[in-house]
Amino acid sequence: MARAVVQWEPLDLPLRNPFGISRRTTTVARNVLVGIASDGFVGLGECAPNAYYGESQASVLAWLPRLAEALPDDPGAIRQATVDLEHATHNNPAARAGLELALWDLLGKRLGTSVWRLWGLSPDPPASSFTIGIDTPGRMAEKATAAHEFPLLKVKVGTPADRANLAAIRDARPDARIRIDANGAWSAKEALVALAELEPFELDLVEQPVNADDLDGLARVANATRLPVYADEGCVSAADVPRLAGRCDGIVVKLQKCGGLGPALAQIHAARAHGLKIMLGCMVESGLGISAAAQLAPLCDTLDLDGNLLLAEDPFDGAAAPGGRLQMPSGPGLGATSRTRPQSPFTEGGSQ
Ligand SMILES: [Mg+2]
Repeated sequence: MARAVVQWEPLDLPLRNPFGISRRTTTVARNVLVGIASDGFVGLGECAPNAYYGESQASVLAWLPRLAEALPDDPGAIRQATVDLEHATHNNPAARAGLELALWDLLGKRLGTSVWRLWGLSPDPPASSFTIGIDTPGRMAEKATAAHEFPLLKVKVGTPADRANLAAIRDARPDARIRIDANGAWSAKEALVALAELEPFELDLVEQPVNADDLDGLARVANATRLPVYADEGCVSAADVPRLAGRCDGIVVKLQKCGGLGPALAQIHAARAHGLKIMLGCMVESGLGISAAAQLAPLCDTLDLDGNLLLAEDPFDGAAAPGGRLQMPSGPGLGATSRTRPQSPFTEGGSQ
């Protein structure tokens, strides 16, 4: 493959409703679109930076020139690219992910097949959830009602109003399976009190009850509660998996946390080897980012791929999980196309 031209531009994604978690509330996801052109094909990738992992749209835009320089001459050498990108920076996972995803999209388009087909996966992903951000009990119940097509809800917790919020949601949706995500808001002691209080609402699992670094706290919670406990912020990449084994029931894999599809696949293999369950999650991202994650969905136990459903408008056609049923993208590469610029947002031969 000929040496590629790498391009990028900011991708601002206004949300339909403000989205609150225990740490912050978001109204616009400030992401970055990446294009890699070679031999008449353009691969697309999305960076969805998260302040928790030390990234922002500005940091991604600042790092991309340096990371683009670090890519190998052959854009098909994606494993080498992953190594080179990690060598260039251990941090900046979203910036690395956007480039890595664009390389997979480019390879798939050249070969005329989706990445999941290339990996020999079957097209039957597990169910995905719809996330209800922190708000007033009334508004959370309204959102739960509006999401009536989703049998599986994920509710953000970690505030003094958790009990009232869950009560309102359970009242609005007696049929739903409900999982909760505290985003590390509790100490182990607080988590056990909170979980005992929330247990009557018939929950499915709890994500990141304690701070990411509190491994003993995580183990204490997992041993004491009957709910399956998943580590999200506490399991960034494959290297984190061994120390989580025996301390929780599962992990949450996100492309934007670990640096792309290759690193996510490694994390999935590591989790399986250690007997951990796998939830595939996402940031707030467009249909492009969700299509990228969907490539790995058949390898996971459960999904939380609703990032593009939270947007006022999705600029990409691709994978989506309306009603929690993920439609696997069938197009080549990542299988997403721009709605506003169907040919491609970037053209071969454009400048960096
Ligand atoms: Mg989470």
